[in-house]
Amino acid sequence: MGALWHPFSDMGAVEKNGEFVIARGEGVHVWDASGKQYLDATAGLWFANVGHGRKELAQAAADQAQTLAAYSTFGDYANPPVIELAERLAGIAPVPGSKTFLTSGGSDSVETAAKIARRYWFEQGQESKRYIIGRSKAYHGMHYAGTSLGGIQGNIEGYGTLVEDQAHVAWDDAEDLRATIERLGPENVAAFFAEPVMGAGGVYPPPEDYLMAVRKICTEHDILFVADEVVTGYGRIGGAWFASAKFGLEPDFVTTAKGLTSGYIPMGAVLVAPRVAEPFFDQDAGRWLRHGYTYSGHAVAAAVANANLDILEQENLLDEAARLEGSLASALSPLADHDLVSEVRCGTGAVAAVQLHEVAKAAPVVAKMRELGVATRAVGAGGVQFSPAFVMTDDEVGQLADITRQALDAAL
Ligand code: PMP
Repeated sequence: MGALWHPFSDMGAVEKNGEFVIARGEGVHVWDASGKQYLDATAGLWFANVGHGRKELAQAAADQAQTLAAYSTFGDYANPPVIELAERLAGIAPVPGSKTFLTSGGSDSVETAAKIARRYWFEQGQESKRYIIGRSKAYHGMHYAGTSLGGIQGNIEGYGTLVEDQAHVAWDDAEDLRATIERLGPENVAAFFAEPVMGAGGVYPPPEDYLMAVRKICTEHDILFVADEVVTGYGRIGGAWFASAKFGLEPDFVTTAKGLTSGYIPMGAVLVAPRVAEPFFDQDAGRWLRHGYTYSGHAVAAAVANANLDILEQENLLDEAARLEGSLASALSPLADHDLVSEVRCGTGAVAAVQLHEVAKAAPVVAKMRELGVATRAVGAGGVQFSPAFVMTDDEVGQLADITRQALDAAL
């Protein structure tokens, strides 16, 4: 533990007692190494959507590992679970028939989309179209393009300029996007990135009509629209596979990860609309663009993803996420009258945040919640995050809310 480069590695209590060293998970509960049980308010980090400890997923991984763990899919080869997964994703993608580019996680998916968006315009002979536009409050992972595209100041600072030709707009203002594109010149802008529901920035649903407005602006100016659905994809937003579909949006790329495998194994996927994917097929060489990772199309990861999609379908978990939208709203909304709380944000599937007036109060509230048996985290600037597994019951959501109120009272 002492050698782990991790915020907790200096906390003596962790090493002594095993508190917060999460050792086991089952359904919506996790246990730390001291044996203490927590109700998991965040499904790991918005990923364990089918719940922890699912034997089907462990079995799918074991079976595939014994058949073929992995083989290069960089160019020449594929494997059966990857072929099945790409077919299934083409069927559920917000743009039907999307081509799937598999990665090892969300940050890889974002980098892939950023590179392919630029390359798309190069392939069209429009090499000046290089700017990529992100938003305030946005989170797009930790690699170079994604970090500098993001809008959470603490994540961006301290590196100098990571990536040239990037710009930021206010997260909720479509007119700011239009003005920025006009200032840069549409002939210089490749793509616009947006999380349909802002996640790590604090769980902000899009303002009404915002997504349709920015889609329209991108279409008018010939700019690719990248929906970063690393958090919102695979049902988290309730009642639909993707937030884009729920909001009637047709993105050019969808970046995904997390819920693809419910986090049982790292994997991400970029779903690319057919019209955008088309120029990347080199007819002469009979292959796709030269971009890929050793583990793009990892067979065990793809087998787990397929088994995870099976569970989501068979147990109607997209509907369960929609149910959680209602139960989170009715359980958490009453907290809005608490002296420490400025706002409760729900109404976007199985995600919600309780916003505190003072940013500094979030850490003690979260710590108190852990003490009382709820594992959660601070989100955005002074928010407390709720993004449970889709299998959480309404009673358990009620317990989350009760414990949140107790923790808020203790922090008064
Ligand atoms: N994009 C968004 C919207 C995310 O929320 C995240 C992770 N929280 C990422 C990208 C990066 O994903 P990963 O941590 O798997 O690299």
